[in-house]
Amino acid sequence: MSGTFVGMPAFPEAAREAVGDKTLRGNLRHATHTIRDKRARAVAELDDWAALREAGKQIKDHTLRHLDRYLVQVEEAVTAAGGTVHWAADADEANEIVARLVRATGEREVVKVKSMATQEIALNEALEAQGIHAYETDLAELIVQLGKDRPSHILVPAIHRNRGEIRDIFRSEMSEWGRPAPEDLTDTPAELAEAARLHLREKFLRAKVGISGANFVVAETGTLVVVESEGNGRMCLTLPETLISVVGIEKIVPRWQDLEVFLQTLPRSSTAERMNPYTSMWTGTADGRAGEGDGPRTFHLVLLDNGRTDTLADEVGRQALRCIRCSACLNVCPVYERAGGHAYGSVYPGPIGAILSPQLRGTGSEIDASLPYASSLCGACYEVCPVAIDIPEVLVHLRERVVQGGPAVRNGNRVVLKPAGGHAAERAAMRAAQWAFTHPGALRTGQRLASRTRRLHPRTLPGPGRAWSAGRDLPAVPAEPFRDWWQRTRGGRDGAK
Ligand code: SF4
Repeated sequence: MSGTFVGMPAFPEAAREAVGDKTLRGNLRHATHTIRDKRARAVAELDDWAALREAGKQIKDHTLRHLDRYLVQVEEAVTAAGGTVHWAADADEANEIVARLVRATGEREVVKVKSMATQEIALNEALEAQGIHAYETDLAELIVQLGKDRPSHILVPAIHRNRGEIRDIFRSEMSEWGRPAPEDLTDTPAELAEAARLHLREKFLRAKVGISGANFVVAETGTLVVVESEGNGRMCLTLPETLISVVGIEKIVPRWQDLEVFLQTLPRSSTAERMNPYTSMWTGTADGRAGEGDGPRTFHLVLLDNGRTDTLADEVGRQALRCIRCSACLNVCPVYERAGGHAYGSVYPGPIGAILSPQLRGTGSEIDASLPYASSLCGACYEVCPVAIDIPEVLVHLRERVVQGGPAVRNGNRVVLKPAGGHAAERAAMRAAQWAFTHPGALRTGQRLASRTRRLHPRTLPGPGRAWSAGRDLPAVPAEPFRDWWQRTRGGRDGAK
């Protein structure tokens, strides 16, 4: 993944700062509660939601199991339809390919469809370094770009901004990028949308190169699919002469028919709509499809690995690659709702970010080692996920990886890495437990002693356990050990409670 966010403090530190921002918390609470309630109603309309969810899971798992075969099939189908396929092992390679393709057109401006993959590789920054300006055309992405900000939500990147803040950004920044906002712009949604529409329109009409991602790639036909709500995507996909799509290798579905499942589950899980307002599909180039004159004359598909093959190799963690980026897990997550997206230090925030970023980037940095702990493990994310990713299971799995292979340890308020070798306190505790359970006499004596002295027990653990027990109630030791109670009452048959 891109190093754009690397260097940020670990999650607990970044989250602490975010939680102190009342405006941010208000914006997040309002937005996430509104979307989650609408999603629940949209999902409840379908009697076969559970079957659709299972079907989505099975299709994705099948594709991931046979990804080698389907990737080759995609390359053959796209090439046959007049497109060119490029393979990018990492972010640098993908950025270099795209920059080279844009330079070859002689253009210095591109318009972009909202795309997580291009954010992941920090494509805009890489193009800017080569003198190529990339204009985001999704309304929320435009707000983020104009505000020199970072996205904080997969679907609603400017979820942390309210209308007044957006009006101020438009007024002060739009003129630097093109058509300025009206002097008397208010914060009404209609006026804000109109200002963005007029600002973007001139870019659509001028652009010769468009850059997109894709929600799905159909292997049997080489068809790419983008679903969106504003129509900006369709403009970017059809008006420019050259289209470059950067797509993660996990976005493949085998057959056209498989879209039947995802085009039901994705809109309901993301925007709580029954179907997307705009679903754009394209296969190769206009010239490659004999008799059809619409769309770009040149099409390049950049297939991006960037840590996905490593993720695929992990039997537990690979389920994260099923993700269809609906963002339902973000909207129900109590941690995301309070900390916001920036605290996750990645373009993938929330529960999916907590399991995807440490797998794509590895757990070698402070922020990535802390992400698997950015959860209460309440399970709400798993409940709403339309492809049944067991996020809590992967979180626990990744915590184990952090502990086993270069653990993050707390030093005051900071999480720092120390060399691999496991958690010393945990190992010592396990050794002590093993000894006690293999010496019943000592265990009995210890239990009786603990019961008799229970009023003297501290309420928090000492040493490294202090932080863990500061926010939890330690279980109370009973007045009588279980085995003594059992012996005295014969398991309750003597009427004891
Ligand atoms: S993990 Fe599931 S709920 Fe979260 S964004 Fe991905 S598909 Fe949606």
